[in-house]
Amino acid sequence: MATKGAFRVECPHCGDSFDADFWTVVRGDRDLEVKELILSGEFDILMCPKCSEMFQHEEPFLYIDPTRDLLAFVMPEAYQEKKDEWIARMKKDYEPMRAALASGQGVSGEPLFLFGLAPLTAMLETDRDREEETEVMEFMAREDGLQLLPVQPAAARRLDIPFSLPLPAGLKGRAAALKAAQALRDRNDALPRVKNLIDALAALKGDDLPFLKV
Ligand SMILES: [Zn+2]
Repeated sequence: MATKGAFRVECPHCGDSFDADFWTVVRGDRDLEVKELILSGEFDILMCPKCSEMFQHEEPFLYIDPTRDLLAFVMPEAYQEKKDEWIARMKKDYEPMRAALASGQGVSGEPLFLFGLAPLTAMLETDRDREEETEVMEFMAREDGLQLLPVQPAAARRLDIPFSLPLPAGLKGRAAALKAAQALRDRNDALPRVKNLIDALAALKGDDLPFLKV
């Protein structure tokens, strides 16, 4: 599924130039091996065919994960110097494609414009921690017979809460969700994002749950 493009690169060690393949589109929900390369720092590492030295070469690519509502334009770190220019260019170049992706793939959030792999890696690592904590919370919630409703991924990141919300079966609304989250916290107080969820729910007014996926 990952889409590749070939670009000519020059080896910084011996000066030889050669054509190398780069991912231009990475589907975070399907290209799991490529996602692992990003997380392990091996993404875009090339080996020179002449001198066999390894080096990193960045090319812009699009990272998409509809399941996590993520659409990111990842540009080489060096582009940061002319950040505004590049963002304007990316917006223009990718606009027709972005519109199609957004409607077809269910990515509803605003696209992100990132420079270098570091901000993407940091976000994916935090999401992975959040997924693990969500799984633990969901396991406990199911044991208690609770239902689980998906949270908007962007809201989960902003509030640093789990990707799902526990609710007693048949109930909805903030008060019921708050009670369910407090009960889970009482059983296991080593889940920081469940604590954040309690704080977020306590801070809301009314009985609506605005951060749920609709
Ligand atoms: Zn070389």
